Amino acid sequence: MNPYREAILLTPGPLTTSLRTKLAMLRDWGSWDSDFIAITARVRKSLLDVVHGHDSHVVVPLQGSGTFSVEAAVATVVPRDGHVLVLDNGAYCKRAAKLSTLMGRRTTIAAFDEAAAVCPEALSKQLEQDPTITHVVMIHCETGAGVLNPLQAVADVCQRHGKGLIVDAMSSFAALEIDARSIHFDALIAASGKCLEGVPGMGFVFIRKQILPSCEGNNTSLAMDLYDQYQYMEKTGQWRFTPPTHVMVALAEAIAQFEEEGGQPARLARYQNNYQTLTNGMGELGFKVFLDSAIQAPIIVTFHAPGSPRYEFKKFYETAKKNGFILYPGKLTQIETFRVGCIGAIGQVEMKQAVHAIQLTLQDMGIPTGAP
Ligand SMILES: *Cc1c(COP(=O)(O)O)cnc(C)c1O
Repeated sequence: MNPYREAILLTPGPLTTSLRTKLAMLRDWGSWDSDFIAITARVRKSLLDVVHGHDSHVVVPLQGSGTFSVEAAVATVVPRDGHVLVLDNGAYCKRAAKLSTLMGRRTTIAAFDEAAAVCPEALSKQLEQDPTITHVVMIHCETGAGVLNPLQAVADVCQRHGKGLIVDAMSSFAALEIDARSIHFDALIAASGKCLEGVPGMGFVFIRKQILPSCEGNNTSLAMDLYDQYQYMEKTGQWRFTPPTHVMVALAEAIAQFEEEGGQPARLARYQNNYQTLTNGMGELGFKVFLDSAIQAPIIVTFHAPGSPRYEFKKFYETAKKNGFILYPGKLTQIETFRVGCIGAIGQVEMKQAVHAIQLTLQDMGIPTGAP
């Protein structure tokens, strides 16, 4: 282990946060104190700024990891007799389909290749064939393989067919452009510990103002009801149940840095640079990227495992960790891969160091090349 620096997380959340964000957590806050209420209000305003959603949407924060908010969004927005179509091209899509089923919603899966983006034309056909479908769930960036799905085109198809759209934008929000003025969605979900570079512990859901009244009474959970959470927050400024105070103040500090950096375009530019630095460097070591670059989001990259018989992920992971970098296992069912994140409070220097650390890791393991 490097005695001078903690290992850098090349994972898609939790990720490496800045010292300033970490330091924000060194204080205790009363949940209904006016100072904390003001922080909640400021964060909610900033989140709406990111998607230009002040006219069209409200934002409702919720305790828990990102999945809690996806589950809460489906259970709050979809009526109990609704019919959800999940566009499935990876692990997070399958998770969304599972939680929709467990929430008691009739759920249909539209299966796509995990090495391709979901297809808006196929969606359009399916919506024509099955008029009972009321809502579509899509994942913006499928973190499983790293695919960028066509949000605008899917949203346009849903709007044309009069269907509600629920978007899991967990790993894209604040990095990729999402403009609520041109993209029509009923709900969009993200979380504190991804591209905003906060710490994990809370999610938030943008809900279209027009559908809010229809959300009352849909949810069969007390703690996960976003309609109740919203009503309570509007009335009191407070969270309904104990808020994750430290996560929240860290997020406020992370958002301040996000805004100082130049907001979403600046964040995307930094991540694109991280992505280019990573893939160029890994390419020189012989590694091969799994996805076609045309559908690759600059968020997380799936690489084929090296073909050498000496390769074993656990050893690779442990050695890379000793060299200062935390990698991520692959999430594909058929082939051996591993993933490297491009997000977090890191830049080109750290990405170059990461490539060097992986080169040392190959040497340590006696693997001559990263080629599959
Ligand atoms: C991170 C992530 C989630 C949430 O996962 P948690 O483990 O619950 O934080 C959901 N969807 C996508 C696409 C993600 O990247």
